[in-house]
Amino acid sequence: MTRADEPPVGRFAPSPTGALHFGSLVAAIASCCDARASGGRWLVRIEDLDEPRAVPGADAGILATLERYGFRADGPILRQSARRAHYDAALAVLAARGRLFECACTRRELDEAPIAPTGERVYPGTCRNGVPPDRAARAQRSLRMRADDAVIAFRDRLQGAQRQDLAREVGDFVVRRADGIAAYQLAVVVDDAAQHVTSVVRGADLLASTPRQIHLQQALGVASPDYLHVPVAIGASGEKLSKQTGARALPDDPLPALADAWRFLDQAPIAPRTVGEFWAQAIAAWSPERLPPVGMLPAPRSATRL
Ligand code: GLU
Repeated sequence: MTRADEPPVGRFAPSPTGALHFGSLVAAIASCCDARASGGRWLVRIEDLDEPRAVPGADAGILATLERYGFRADGPILRQSARRAHYDAALAVLAARGRLFECACTRRELDEAPIAPTGERVYPGTCRNGVPPDRAARAQRSLRMRADDAVIAFRDRLQGAQRQDLAREVGDFVVRRADGIAAYQLAVVVDDAAQHVTSVVRGADLLASTPRQIHLQQALGVASPDYLHVPVAIGASGEKLSKQTGARALPDDPLPALADAWRFLDQAPIAPRTVGEFWAQAIAAWSPERLPPVGMLPAPRSATRL
């Protein structure tokens, strides 16, 4: 079956590091409307791999909020914490193909690497041809994916043509952390493939990660979904909304926040009186071509405490 014959599959993949806020709601609505408007399915994945950062109970809170806001996943909720064996299997495939190497560099050492235009530090290649003798005694090692000479080009459905020279702009990147946990970049690729996701709709803060994910998809021989990166909601400080930048948890009353998020996405006016009406009207009115083709936009005042 070709991609064109398959019903689209979208997903929302929150990390349970706190309550859902306006920024997460924007990504959730955009991904859900985009999938449903073209007769597709929409899935939810809890990205709870990073146990040190996970907040106990946050996942249950997120799922309860989604429910209250009228989101209904078209399939079981996937939890990354239950999928370690799948990440290990993908790592084994990459290792067998000669794509990985062990890295014994410490965070402090890596903090001295030069910064690329993406704002990230480029891995200097220290362990690429074997861990140097002065680091050989270190047992804590991450696994990195070779960037080689990959130049990844793709067209984001909203942000347009993208191109990243992986070696120069990112360098070899971590796919399994030194604590043994699969890195976000690897887990998201394995899970998007396992869930047959055809369309990734998420915040533009992840645009610069996408070439790494495409590089991994190519190395693993899985299909690449298409990508649409919606503007990230920023607070008064100009930073992405998050608990640290004063984002409020979503209010109990869904309708005003749903309406704010709809306006943020610059969609045609709708006038729902209930959550059910919101979803019926939003899915019917969804127009990706109306989305603002920018990386960030100010959140409404009601979304922050500052
Ligand atoms: N878990 C990520 C986050 O909450 C999103 C990952 C993704 O959509 O690829 O920022």
